[in-house]
Amino acid sequence: MDVRIIVETTFENGTKRSHRLDSISRPARQVGPENFGLMMKDSQSLLCGIQEAVLRDQIEEISEVSRICPDCNKVRAIHDYRPRVVDTLFGRFRIKAPRMRRCACNAKSKVVLGGPFSPLAHVFPDRSTPELQRLQAELGARHSFREAARIMETFLPCARQMNTTVRNRLGKIAQDISGIDRAERAVDEDATSPPLTVFLDGAHIRCRPEYQRRHLDVVVGKIESPNMSRRFGLVQQAPRSPAKQLRQALISQGWDGRRPVTVISDGEPALPNLVHRAVQGSVRHILDWWHISMRVQHVENAVKGLLQAENFPGISELFQRPAETLRWNLWHGKIQTAGTLIQCLMVDCSRLSKDDLAVRDATARVQARCRELYTYLANNMGNLTDYGWRHRNGFPISSSRAEGCVDDIGNTRMGKRRRMRWSPKGAHQVAVTRAAVLDGRLSVSFHKIAA
Ligand SMILES: [Zn+2]
Repeated sequence: MDVRIIVETTFENGTKRSHRLDSISRPARQVGPENFGLMMKDSQSLLCGIQEAVLRDQIEEISEVSRICPDCNKVRAIHDYRPRVVDTLFGRFRIKAPRMRRCACNAKSKVVLGGPFSPLAHVFPDRSTPELQRLQAELGARHSFREAARIMETFLPCARQMNTTVRNRLGKIAQDISGIDRAERAVDEDATSPPLTVFLDGAHIRCRPEYQRRHLDVVVGKIESPNMSRRFGLVQQAPRSPAKQLRQALISQGWDGRRPVTVISDGEPALPNLVHRAVQGSVRHILDWWHISMRVQHVENAVKGLLQAENFPGISELFQRPAETLRWNLWHGKIQTAGTLIQCLMVDCSRLSKDDLAVRDATARVQARCRELYTYLANNMGNLTDYGWRHRNGFPISSSRAEGCVDDIGNTRMGKRRRMRWSPKGAHQVAVTRAAVLDGRLSVSFHKIAA
């Protein structure tokens, strides 16, 4: 059999036109699994044909409609036709876009100001459709630019994709995303501002050699309010003001610029400082419980090891008791007591006789672990809290939600295993776009533009 596809256009003025597209031939005697139904290649040429028919008719109609002067209803003359290339998801087409002469009906001195204008100029400012740009950015944020180009070529009848084009489009989209955030600020002015929690973490990615450094720090995290959450990623070295970017992210999440913001992160001071600069006000920084808990676990294990030593010379109760209550005290925010317990442990360890080699090693380990925990707590003294109370009342106590973002935004696309090197700007753009893709913000923002 032969299948013929005909596209019929009905213009607004009632005229009709039909386009005959390729026909598909399926001889009954030669049918096999390879030519059963529609093939990928058929679908690509079909889509390309439909796109071309729709596009050309659309351009013709827009040109016809825009020839009529809105002021005097006269038909304006066509000055010339300019060749243009339009890139779409379903092919790249060379079209002829007409340019009109301006009408003199409005000019006082009957002198027309300005040269001919193109009615299609605002339709494709970048010579490509927004949908194509969005897909390029989305795939570029998920895969390497080369891979993204390959995927598009596999499934779509689009023109040959270059990895550099994918990269540049992603950069443009990343810029647009920041622009949209700025526009959203005015909308939420009256909304009552919910309490916000920022979960922060950092990822290291390889830097390109010309920037004189081995690694770039990607700051990733999540901003959460009771009913919304939003991921973000940025490279501190890249944007002119990372704090400003973060401030915009906070505002678009409903922050009013005054309410205190809670930050949960590990002990790294650079990350909360960034939020501090972004908020320009009070920031409640809370140390992540998991990082404390891990260090407490180290102390507990070391004490267990010491007690199990064969010729343990001391009173086991003296060691066991502090190790057991340490976690409870820290969990309930009794930091002074916890500090005293750690010091007691260290003093008791130093009093043990060190004749036996195994005991000496185990004692040294306990002391080292205690010192580690003590220093960590001392460095973050102001950021400890009553974790038990927070947990019971449904407040977050751990930055684990940001750690998911480290993988999602940083490592999956830019991690060390990918063997890629990044410039600060490039990494920043990918981080911004990837966060938007993961949140589903990319498609939403584009619907907004279209509306
Ligand atoms: Zn006119």
